[in-house]
Amino acid sequence: MELKKLESPLDTHFFSSAYEALLKGEPVELRPRLKHGAGITYDFFGIDVPEEKLRYYLERGFLEVAGEVAFPACPVCGEVRLNLKILCPNCRSSNIEKRDLMIHYDCGYLGPVESFETGEPGVYRCPKCGKTLKKVGIDYGRPGFGFVCRDCNAVFQVPLIEVECPNGHKSSIQSLEIKKYPVYRVSEEVRKFAEIHDAVNRLSELLMERGVRSEPFASVKGISGEKHRVPLYVELDPPVIVEILTPSIIDDRSLIGVAIRALDIPEAITLLVLPREIETDLEKIFNPEKVRVMKVDNLKESINEILDSILMLRA
Ligand SMILES: [Zn+2]
Ligand SMILES: [Zn+2]
Ligand SMILES: [Zn+2]
Repeated sequence: MELKKLESPLDTHFFSSAYEALLKGEPVELRPRLKHGAGITYDFFGIDVPEEKLRYYLERGFLEVAGEVAFPACPVCGEVRLNLKILCPNCRSSNIEKRDLMIHYDCGYLGPVESFETGEPGVYRCPKCGKTLKKVGIDYGRPGFGFVCRDCNAVFQVPLIEVECPNGHKSSIQSLEIKKYPVYRVSEEVRKFAEIHDAVNRLSELLMERGVRSEPFASVKGISGEKHRVPLYVELDPPVIVEILTPSIIDDRSLIGVAIRALDIPEAITLLVLPREIETDLEKIFNPEKVRVMKVDNLKESINEILDSILMLRA
């Protein structure tokens, strides 16, 4: 028999986190965000993952698109990891400094306040024309902060703003493109599946505490050669397969699926956990030697009961 874990650690993280969040009534929306150096990532219940990873869950129906968020992107290559560059409008150097500026109205000279200082407090002299400046608002003005280019000495209030992508494409702010990324939310499918996922993982933990190995969501090869995915494969003698059907996923098809798997894996005993309220004649199709049916009122509260039933199936 071949036993292989189908789930990736990310799957386990996803289903258990989504289930916890759903139980707590927390929002299960995953929003894109721009992470420095990494590009667009999503907070996947505490783990940063790129969008491609989430598309995999979208394709399997575990996520739905709930909206979109727009990000500025390079007009040449669409890259969203953009660097903002502040340049001298005269020589395009980035070697510029922010300074408090002063202007002499008579001659029009604009420069940093320090270039007007005389050493005598409150007395200013224009470095261009040499006149002494007395009254603010009349002789000189204080326009606030601006920039001085260290390369060409140009003084300016508005720098040139350029955007550069990691591929070296330079563009102006006005020419940027918009790239949209989806906002995801956890789908109804997960609500249905998460409860079983949680129960199976807790059973596996409790079995481990009792020294019994088990494999959640194991792939088991049947005598027909087909591989079956079973919720929990317990390594007892004989092996026990735990199948759980909750009210939201139970139907005739899912019951027949359990019966077929049980026939195809004859060396194992199946413990089928059903909701108490279920009424179906299909139970009769099971061979009671191979499939033991157990009914529970509330799956979450019946974990210890299920655990006892598993252990009682030991030869
Ligand atoms: Zn680019
Ligand atoms: Zn310059
Ligand atoms: Zn002057």
